[in-house]
Amino acid sequence: MVGQSPSIQSFFPLQTSPFKTSPRTSSPTPGDGFTSEELDTSLVSVGKDDWTPSTTYDEYDIDSLVAGPNRIKIVGRIVNLFESSPKAKLPNGAKGSVHLVIKDNTGAATIKLSYTRISYGLRIGQLVAVWATYVTDGDRGIFPCTVAPLYIKVFPEKDKNCHIRRLDDPKFAQLCRKPLRYESTLMSLKDFTHGGSEVTEAKILVIVKSISTRKKVTKKDGTTTDLVKVGVMDDTSEAILSLWGVASTTPTDWQPSQTALLISSPSLNVSHQTWLALTSSTFIDVDPSIPEAERLRTYAGHMIKRRHINTAYPDEEYEMWNISKPEEHVLYSLADLDDRAREAPEDEFEGYLSVVIIELNMSSLRQQNMLMCNECCGIPLYANSTVARCKHCDEQKRLRVNPRLIGKLIDESGSILSGKLVLSDYAWTRLLGRSTEELIKSSASTLKSVEHRMLHVRITLRFWWSAGVGKLVITDVLE
Ligand SMILES: [Zn+2]
Repeated sequence: MVGQSPSIQSFFPLQTSPFKTSPRTSSPTPGDGFTSEELDTSLVSVGKDDWTPSTTYDEYDIDSLVAGPNRIKIVGRIVNLFESSPKAKLPNGAKGSVHLVIKDNTGAATIKLSYTRISYGLRIGQLVAVWATYVTDGDRGIFPCTVAPLYIKVFPEKDKNCHIRRLDDPKFAQLCRKPLRYESTLMSLKDFTHGGSEVTEAKILVIVKSISTRKKVTKKDGTTTDLVKVGVMDDTSEAILSLWGVASTTPTDWQPSQTALLISSPSLNVSHQTWLALTSSTFIDVDPSIPEAERLRTYAGHMIKRRHINTAYPDEEYEMWNISKPEEHVLYSLADLDDRAREAPEDEFEGYLSVVIIELNMSSLRQQNMLMCNECCGIPLYANSTVARCKHCDEQKRLRVNPRLIGKLIDESGSILSGKLVLSDYAWTRLLGRSTEELIKSSASTLKSVEHRMLHVRITLRFWWSAGVGKLVITDVLE
């Protein structure tokens, strides 16, 4: 991935912010920047946010902000979020404060947001607008984020001259997605974990693979905090991104195999797994507009599909192929099948296999409450039931027969393991002689006797092979 970029300009055609009527000049355009319609729609998801600026605020690109008193408005995406130090001085009346690092396409600034009770529901990746009256140059005095040295303090509940608002409207979806200093050091996850983390401003691009449920954990000092573990991958390695405390609500709308994260300068811990964490210098660009993100998304999609614990039966693909298929009634051996799939990887073909089941896991899976399974949010779901609720997104997910129910099939030429097969619901019913509902309800002794009856029996399978599916699709089971 490193060094493939011809030039940064070729990726990012010049675009002006839709909030402005003219490109940025050294003096900012006066005005709020929003039409009244935009203001109305941006309020929808924020509930009671009815703040309107009482006077004119100039909208600035972040890199053109200057320290000092000024009524300013900036729009940027949150790239980091952390609680202020417990020892930090709070303004009168504040219960707490968080630091937001926000970034537009020109620079980054740190916002100290003090609050008494309002939960802003802020997450990394969100687009926000901030209205403030003073910009501090963070180079002086104690400063929490050295990579975004402009410091803006807001306490909207107390000071009506400042405000922060989430811009959730889909029309802003592409705004501020250009990474800063992107061309510098994009490295692979593997290189990053093997010494690359020492490089200043090291950047890795990863795809979200799984999202854990949020857990309460007790820290060394006895206090508790929330933790979410996000599985991430690129084409070289995998890691866990841990999101703590105020950042732990961030992955709520991230999608496994879809959401891309460009992470700059995370901390690395390789004690037993590869753990990435945020420091105050870390930036996370969610779904950055860079071509590598699209390429990696495609790669991750294939990998995640292949490793899925219960690959979906490719109904539509098979139907499409079936319409124009040649008439083939060929009996293959497992070795022939393997040869043909390797020699002509693009070939899609159908045929029959005559195999013997030599391993079945029905009883043990029943005992482990794993007869049926599926995945949601990249997390496996198992149960002896047709549905299960995902612990992360709380959605009911339909389960299918666990493919590991068949352990191993052999013929005279070779063997195939259950993980390489995808059976249709129809094929499962034919194979087991019972529907999935009947399978779930069967007693342990019934399943034991079914197992005995099926083991070492020769069966004929009708199969379809397509490299796109990457597994052997079983469409029918014949005695
Ligand atoms: Zn889910």
